[in-house]
Amino acid sequence: MLRYRLTLFRLLGFPIQIDATWIFIAVLILWSLSTGLFPMVLPDQDPAIYWRMGGVALLGFAASIVLHELGHAVVARSYDMPIRSITLFIFGGVAEMEKEPPSAKAEFWVAIAGPIMSVVVAVAFGALAYLFGGPPALPEIGDGQIQTAMPEAVVFSYLAFLNVILAVFNMVPAFPLDGGRVLRAILWGVRGNLMWATRVAAGFGSGFAALLVAWAIFNLTAGNPVGAVWYFILGLFVHSAAQGQVYYQKIRSALEPRPVKSFMRTELVVVDPDMPVERLISEYFYTHYYKSFPVVHRGELLGVVYASDVRKTDSPERLRVRDVMRPADEDLVIQPDTDSATALQRMQINDQTRLMVCERGKLIGVIALRDLMNFLSIRQDLESG
Ligand SMILES: [Zn+2]
Repeated sequence: MLRYRLTLFRLLGFPIQIDATWIFIAVLILWSLSTGLFPMVLPDQDPAIYWRMGGVALLGFAASIVLHELGHAVVARSYDMPIRSITLFIFGGVAEMEKEPPSAKAEFWVAIAGPIMSVVVAVAFGALAYLFGGPPALPEIGDGQIQTAMPEAVVFSYLAFLNVILAVFNMVPAFPLDGGRVLRAILWGVRGNLMWATRVAAGFGSGFAALLVAWAIFNLTAGNPVGAVWYFILGLFVHSAAQGQVYYQKIRSALEPRPVKSFMRTELVVVDPDMPVERLISEYFYTHYYKSFPVVHRGELLGVVYASDVRKTDSPERLRVRDVMRPADEDLVIQPDTDSATALQRMQINDQTRLMVCERGKLIGVIALRDLMNFLSIRQDLESG
């Protein structure tokens, strides 16, 4: 999930992206509003009007989710937690954080900022609905009442209602929903034990997931298979996200006290930037069987050269290592005293299996994903044995 995404624009410095799965949900929303909800609430209009209302409502829907995530992102940034992006995907939105909350207080305010933002947005859309003459009266079956609301008022009422739902649903105390994070922050603050707080909050998350699955079964027996499938998938998603967080927290607490230098390997095979690529292939890739090599000149790390990048070049006989290497930027480099949980996270975010350990620009070692995984697996064996 979240592999095929497109950056639309930047808002307050955050890249706003859509994931391919969002297209599916956007089509579903547009279709169900334009052919279902709007014709029911505001009958006897031209179909073109319903589609226009649907289009505006879809934009408002996307904006509502972006604003909710923006609430999280702005508060996170104020606590020095960088946000990589805000992404719309099939289950709504996500503000991707590169760091964990530094304190219970930070987690509390970051988590609650999204629902607070949704309440504010709900009030704003409600005000707009009243500017256009107020929301439509709820249709009562068989009373023959004629609806006189304006299309704008219908759309803004819908968006106000949607934001109330967003705030309420997200405040369910089921980790990893916002309400679950608020719960975890409170538990963490009270006892000072993040692992315990995560377990309890994730327990609530899995309990809520079980309710969603039960609700799916009820929908199935009530003749609503589409709703049933939706709630079932949502239940599975919440459950796996909750348990994933417990697993993730275990890894963090195992790696956090250990600095990068305790896992670092110092016997290095490095290449010179002026080496011809042909020699790199025969004497390095086919001799040492690494997929990448640090490029070093006089002890200084200049970049990393990857087998996959060499493969893409047309004429390796005329190229040198410096022509095909990737520059040593902060995605690939880490400091020896940084904790290993941060190293693991950086590998995952940047899809790397090794990071270069540098001190004042000089390469002093390499930390490998495989070594971190071996350590975690040994620890697991010792603890459950
Ligand atoms: Zn949220």
